[in-house]
Amino acid sequence: MGIGARIPRPVQRARAGHFEGNALMLRCRDVVELLVEYLDDQLDPATAGALAAHVTGCEECTAFTNTYRKTVQALRQLREEDLPSQLRDRLRGFPNRQTDSGRV
Ligand SMILES: [Zn+2]
Repeated sequence: MGIGARIPRPVQRARAGHFEGNALMLRCRDVVELLVEYLDDQLDPATAGALAAHVTGCEECTAFTNTYRKTVQALRQLREEDLPSQLRDRLRGFPNRQTDSGRV
């Protein structure tokens, strides 16, 4: 008695949200919390899938995700435009320095 009635479930590891059966359910605040990692591909597949599923069915999170994504993209584009000119100078100088000292 007792032991048979309560079968211990394996502890499901989830960063956020809760399980309904085997499906991980996320709330809007979970999405907000996990979105950075989601867009950075840092989430485990189960959490990422649950997040995507929630966003698909939630207008607010769709809007939030789109806004966030655009912001991140804008920041990345800025960096990419910034880097090449600086990188080009460094890359130009670098091999010369190497061959100079390497040939001696
Ligand atoms: Zn939502």
